[in-house]
Amino acid sequence: MSLNMFSLKGKTALVTGANTGLGQGICVAYAQAGANVIGVARRSCQETADKIAAVSGSFTEIIADLSDVSVIPYIVEEAHKAHERVDIVVNNAGIIKRCDAIDVTMEDWDSVININEKVVFFLSQAFAKRWHEDGKGGKIINIASMLSYQGGIRVPAYAASKSAVMGITKALANEWASHNININAIAPGYMATNNTANLRSDDQRSDEILSRIPAGRWGTPDDIMGAAIFLASDASAYVNGFTIAVDGGWLAR
Ligand code: NAP
Repeated sequence: MSLNMFSLKGKTALVTGANTGLGQGICVAYAQAGANVIGVARRSCQETADKIAAVSGSFTEIIADLSDVSVIPYIVEEAHKAHERVDIVVNNAGIIKRCDAIDVTMEDWDSVININEKVVFFLSQAFAKRWHEDGKGGKIINIASMLSYQGGIRVPAYAASKSAVMGITKALANEWASHNININAIAPGYMATNNTANLRSDDQRSDEILSRIPAGRWGTPDDIMGAAIFLASDASAYVNGFTIAVDGGWLAR
C-alpha cells in the first residue's frame, strides 16, 4: 500500500458553499492534496482563495445561487471552461431554518429542501451524465448530518433534507457504482461554523450539546478534511453509498 493513493494530484474538485465553514475547509484540504479546486458560492470566496494561494494551490471561483436547480447548467459550463474535466463533486452548500414545527411555512420548507436535497441530486446527475459518457468515473461526496440519523429539535425541514441526502447517497451508489462512480457522504457532528452560530450562542443548548459529545468539544472544518480526502481519492475505490460520521462520538452515545 502506498500513501499515494490519497493523492488528488491532477484531479479537479468542485465544492459548493466554498466561501466559508466546512466547504472552505474541504477546498483547502483538496488543494493541499494536489487537486485543482473550483469553489461554487453565492458570494466572493476571497478568503478561501487566499488560503489556497498560501499552499500554492489552484482555485477558481464560480458565483452562483444554489437556491434553485436552474443554475446547474451554468455551473457545469463554467466548471468546464476552467478545467477540461471535473473528477470530484462535493455537495456541501446547505441551509438550516430553526422554527417550531407548528409554525414552519411552505416557503421555508421549500427553500431548505431545494438547496439541501434537490440541488444535491440534480448537480450530481449533471456531472454523472458527463462521467457516464466518458467512462472515466468520478467521486461524489454529499454532506449529510447527525439529522440524517436523528430528528433534531425545531429543524424539521433540515432533518427531512439530510435524511434524504443519506437516501440519495445510497440510491445513486446502487445505480452508478458500476460506472466507476463512488458516491458517499460525510455526516459532520456539531461543528463550529455559521450553521451552528445560533446554537452556540444559546448557553443552555450549547451546554446540552457539549455534554453529549464524547470528544468534549465542537468540531472544526479541519476535522472533516481527512474523511473528505479519503472519499475523493483512490483509497476509497471500493467504498460505495456509505455515510461516514465525523462527530466526536455523538452517534456512539
Ligand atoms: P455554513 O458556514 O453556514 O456554510 C454553508 C454554506 O452553504 C455557505 O458557503 C453558504 O453560503 C452556502 N449556501 C447557503 N445557501 C446558498 C445558496 N443559496 N447558494 C449558494 N451557496 C449557499 O455552515 P457549514 O457548517 O459549513 O455547512 C456546510 C454543510 O455542512 C451544510 O450542508 C450543513 O448542513 C452541513 N452540516 C453542518 C454541521 C455543523 O454543525 N456546522 C453539521 C452537519 C452538517 P453563504 O455564506 O453565502 O450563506
